[in-house]
Amino acid sequence: MVDLGGQWVHGEKGNIVFETAWPQGLLERGNFLDGQFELFDSSGKKMNQSIADDLKRFFFQTIDNLDQYAKRRNGPIGQHFHNEFEKYFKAHPFLKNDANGLLHLFDKIDMEEDGGNSWWDVSTRNVIQYIMSPGANQLNWKNRTYFTILDILMKRFPNPKEELPNMNNTILNSQVTLIYNNEKFETVTVTTANGGIYTANHVIVTVSLGVLKEKHNQLFYPPLPNEKVKTINGMGFGNEAKIFLAFEKPWWKHKDPGFYFYWKDEDRVEIEKEPEKRWLLGLNRFSFVDHRHGLLYGWLSGNYSQEMEMIPKEKVFNHLIEALQRFMGKHYNITKPIGMIRSKWNSKENFKGAYSFLQTSKFDDISPSTLAQPIGKRKPKILFAGEATHSHFFSTVHGAIESGFREADRLIRIYPHLKK
Ligand SMILES: Cc1cc2nc3c(=O)[nH]c(=O)nc-3n(C[C@H](O)[C@H](O)[C@H](O)COP(=O)(O)OP(=O)(O)OC[C@H]3O[C@@H](n4cnc5c(N)ncnc54)[C@H](O)[C@@H]3O)c2cc1C
Repeated sequence: MVDLGGQWVHGEKGNIVFETAWPQGLLERGNFLDGQFELFDSSGKKMNQSIADDLKRFFFQTIDNLDQYAKRRNGPIGQHFHNEFEKYFKAHPFLKNDANGLLHLFDKIDMEEDGGNSWWDVSTRNVIQYIMSPGANQLNWKNRTYFTILDILMKRFPNPKEELPNMNNTILNSQVTLIYNNEKFETVTVTTANGGIYTANHVIVTVSLGVLKEKHNQLFYPPLPNEKVKTINGMGFGNEAKIFLAFEKPWWKHKDPGFYFYWKDEDRVEIEKEPEKRWLLGLNRFSFVDHRHGLLYGWLSGNYSQEMEMIPKEKVFNHLIEALQRFMGKHYNITKPIGMIRSKWNSKENFKGAYSFLQTSKFDDISPSTLAQPIGKRKPKILFAGEATHSHFFSTVHGAIESGFREADRLIRIYPHLKK
C-alpha cells in the first residue's frame, strides 16, 4: 500500500492527526532534510557533494527567511527567491552555467509545499496565512498509510468491533450534480448523477477547490454569492503528482531526501521539442519511501504533472527509465523497475488538482475563511468544509479534518439538545 496523495503528518502541536494517532504508536518522526541530497544534471554529471549540500542549506535558509520578506512585501514569493539566488550565483560564479536549471528545480521543489505551478504564482500572503504546526514536519505511518486516520475516526481502529455505523450511512459512487437550496421550504435537495435525490435540512459540501472552480456554476442553485465565487476564482489550486517505482531490491544505499534532477540549458531546449517527454522537466526528484523496501517515488510539480497524466502509462514508465539512466546511470547500477503506479489527481473529475494556496491576485481579501462561510438566510443550510476552507492549515489533511469538525460543531450549536 502506498499513498498517492497525503503521506506525511505535518507537525505535532495543535495537529489533530498527530494528537489522535501518536498516542496509539502509529507514527514515526522523520526529517526529510537530514539525509543526503544528491544533485544530477541532464548530462549525467553528479554535483560535488559539498557544493550540493551548500545549495540545499542555502535554499532552505531562503525558505526560512521568507516569513520576514512576506511581512515587508506583498507579491509573488518568486521575487524573494530570485533576489537571493542572484546573490548566491554571484558569490558562486562556477554555477553560472547551471543557474537556469537550478532555479527551475528549486522553484519546483518549493511548489511541493506551496502547491502552485511556479513560485511566481504564490503570494507572500500564503506564507503569512499558513501556519506550520510545530514539531517534526514529516511523520510517516510506518507500514500503514494515511488511510489509517479514517479507521481511527470511524473507531474501526484499534478495535474493529467498536466501529461507528458511518459506512451504513454513506452512499458511495454517487456523484453530486446539483445542490438546490430551497429557501421556501428551508431544505436543501441534493441530486446525484445516478438518479438519487436526497432532501436535508443542512448539507456540508467538502468537494475540493478544484471541483468548485470547475463546477460551482452548475453545482449550486441558486448560484453561489459573488463573494464566494470571487474567493473560489481567486484562490489557487495546484497540480502535483507522484509516481512510484518498485524494484526487486534497492540499488541505492542511503536515506532521504534522495536524488534531485536539473536540466542543462541545451538539453532543456531539446526536450521542450518533444511533447510526450516535456513533462520530465517537472520531475524534481526520486526519493525513498519509509518502511517500503525497494520502492522509490518521483515527484512532479506544477502543470508538468498534468501533462504526464495525459501520456499512456507504458510511455511514462519507459520515459522514467530513460530519465533515471540519463541523470544517474553513470553513478548507479540502476535495475529495471518491476512495477509503476502514478497519481492522476489533476485529471480526475472529482479532484481536479492537488491542494490549495493563496495565489498572487489583484484582490487582497481572498481568504479561505470566506470559502468557509455557510449559506442560508435564517440558519446555515449549505456549509463548506475541506482543506481549502481552513484559515491556516489549508492544503493539509489535518486542516481538512479540522474543517469538518468545525462545520459539524456549527450544526451542533444549532441543535444543542441532540448533543450527547
Ligand atoms: C500528491 C499529494 C500529496 C499530498 N501530501 C500531503 C501530505 O503529505 N500531508 C498532508 O497533510 N496533505 C497532503 N496532501 C494534501 C491532502 O491530501 C489534502 O489537503 C486533503 O486530502 C484534502 O482533503 P479534503 O477532504 O479537503 O478533499 P478531498 O480529499 O479532495 O475530498 C473531497 C471528496 O469529495 C469527493 N467529490 C468531489 N466532487 C464530488 C461530487 N460532485 N459528488 C460527490 N463527491 C465528490 C471526492 O471524490 C473526494 O472524496 C497531498 C495531496 C496530494 C495531491
